[in-house]
Amino acid sequence: MPEPSRDQLHGQRVAATAADRRQAYDDGVAAWHDQHDEPPTAHHDPHAIAECPLCNADGYTPANRICDHIDRTQTTARGRTLVQAELDKIRDRKITHTRGGAA
Ligand SMILES: [Zn+2]
Repeated sequence: MPEPSRDQLHGQRVAATAADRRQAYDDGVAAWHDQHDEPPTAHHDPHAIAECPLCNADGYTPANRICDHIDRTQTTARGRTLVQAELDKIRDRKITHTRGGAA
């Protein structure tokens, strides 16, 4: 069997430290839960995480924020439409007011 190359050895070391860090992270999370009585939130629910297209396996979004597994894109779009309608009304009022005042 040929000797592993430097790159292969480096890859093995990186994989080993990644596994160590993952284990330390999981141990830390387990210790935290041992010390705290809070019931797990939706963020921690493995089923919700598995079903959610918005977050990674740890329940974090690509922006590294805690995910509550609720897709708000529709709500956001509706809200943006309502805000724009209000802004249009205000702009129309200002135009009317400016014309009235200048006359
Ligand atoms: Zn999620």
